[in-house]
Amino acid sequence: MKSIKSKIFIFALLATLIPSLILGLLSFHQNESSIRENLTRELRTLANHAGSELVSWINQSIHEANSLTTSKIMIGALSDAANLQSEKKTQSPDTLASYLRLLHAKLDTFLELTVIDTQQEIIASSSDQSFLNKSLLNNLIALDSPQQSFILPPFRNEQFGTVTVSIALPILSYENYILGQLVLTYDLQSIKPKLEDPIKSSRGGILILDTDGRLLLDSHRTIDHTVQLSPSIYQSLVNNPGELFNFQDFSNKQIIGLAQTVRILPVTIIAGREYEEVYAARIAQRNFFLILVCASIFIVAAIAIYLGRSIVTPLQRLINATDQIVKGSLDIPLTTITQKDELGKLAQMFNHMTEKLRQSQAEILTANEELKLKNQLLEKLCVTDSLTGLYNRSKLNHIINDELSRSHRNKRPFAILMIDIDYFKELNDTLGHIAGDEILAAVSRILTQSIRSIDFAARYGGDEFIIVLTETTAKEATFTAERIRAQVSEVFCSVINQSISVTLSIGIAQSELKDTSPTDLITRADNALYQAKKGGRNQARVVGSDI
Ligand code: GH3
Ligand code: MG
Repeated sequence: MKSIKSKIFIFALLATLIPSLILGLLSFHQNESSIRENLTRELRTLANHAGSELVSWINQSIHEANSLTTSKIMIGALSDAANLQSEKKTQSPDTLASYLRLLHAKLDTFLELTVIDTQQEIIASSSDQSFLNKSLLNNLIALDSPQQSFILPPFRNEQFGTVTVSIALPILSYENYILGQLVLTYDLQSIKPKLEDPIKSSRGGILILDTDGRLLLDSHRTIDHTVQLSPSIYQSLVNNPGELFNFQDFSNKQIIGLAQTVRILPVTIIAGREYEEVYAARIAQRNFFLILVCASIFIVAAIAIYLGRSIVTPLQRLINATDQIVKGSLDIPLTTITQKDELGKLAQMFNHMTEKLRQSQAEILTANEELKLKNQLLEKLCVTDSLTGLYNRSKLNHIINDELSRSHRNKRPFAILMIDIDYFKELNDTLGHIAGDEILAAVSRILTQSIRSIDFAARYGGDEFIIVLTETTAKEATFTAERIRAQVSEVFCSVINQSISVTLSIGIAQSELKDTSPTDLITRADNALYQAKKGGRNQARVVGSDI
């Protein structure tokens, strides 16, 4: 059986935990949605910015290249190379190279300035060691329209540790023939400062990847070797542009990011933020929430224990008090419950009830006492004669029966005296019935006083009495009979205010083993009495004795 205290305790805990957890989960869910929404917005802005910076950087570079293609030196050098003006060679490749180096020194926006002919052969370069190696040159297409331009996709040059983007534009003759191409090679790193500005105010970073997921640029780090994103992550990002994904970056940090592509270059821009940093506030909030829940549980548990005690302790006292009542004790006032609430009221009523019970118990005890006395009186009246106060005939029968049983058990006799007042009829007739009654009562008193406490005196009927002498033989009974006779000789009668001479005839019988009923013994005593009457009265006679 669970106590009320533990039920209150469990209820309080559940009542605190369930709403807290539901509210907490709802709040976390909302928070999560809002974090992802804000993050998506922020990263899209970041990626858009990076994309537009990249596009404008490429456009600027094309514009710059365009302005250089009209150089006389370049046209002359290419014309010479193509042998178009064989007689009048004005520009040698060395002159062109010097010119290109001069340009490079003036304009430090690019890494290299290269002039190639229509066969994709390098005519002259601003650098001694060209960034344009064979494989890159193979990727260059032969431009066939004066308006055409070609962008060589970003390429990581392990030799120089750079990522280059090359832009090729046609160099036209004065007759508008394509003489060759001017290739400007840029370092992709040069766009980094442009990406950094908005990033400074943001905690996000930009990664630029090539079409195989290889890292070309990291806005926060310098790349010193080739690293590649896992193909599955790369595909997920590219196939779902603008959608958030969790992945590990190249320094094994957990990142949340989204991808965006730009038309102008075959690259993927990824804007991302570190997972831990994004969720730091949320983790702090979760910890704060857990501390709050623990604190509320602690407070609620303490209140529940206090409440439980304030209910259970008085109840336990009531139970103990009720138990005492069950065991019969009513002296248990509940003075220790002093609350003003329902329990206090219950304790008051309990005290009131016990007070009532105490009163009822006292009344019942008094009534019982009275009843007991009445019963005793009734019992006495049942076994005594109203006139003389001696045992009546029915009680006498019981007494003799008991004595017979005892006598049979211990083989010791007892005796009875059957006493009859001589000529009582005459006394009655001469002195009146009331005087007769008084004489009967006076004789009875003398009989009672003349016997031992273990003997019994009974009125057998009319003026006849029987005395049972326990543990007494007939011979011993004779002495008692004679003593009684002597004591009764004169009785004072208040009706006539004078003493009257009264004589008794007594028949004595001793119990015998053959006696089965009081009648057997009484009959013998009656015979002895008859003998006494017949013998002249005022005497005692014994009849028969076999013990
Ligand atoms: P005996 O010597 O042979 O005994 O002669 P007796 O006159 O005593 O004769 P008996 O014993 O037969 O008479 C008893 C009388 O006692 C008869 C009756 O009127 C009287 N008596 C019986 N009961 C009462 C009683 O309760 N009160 C009074 N006053 N008299 C009673
Ligand atoms: Mg008589």
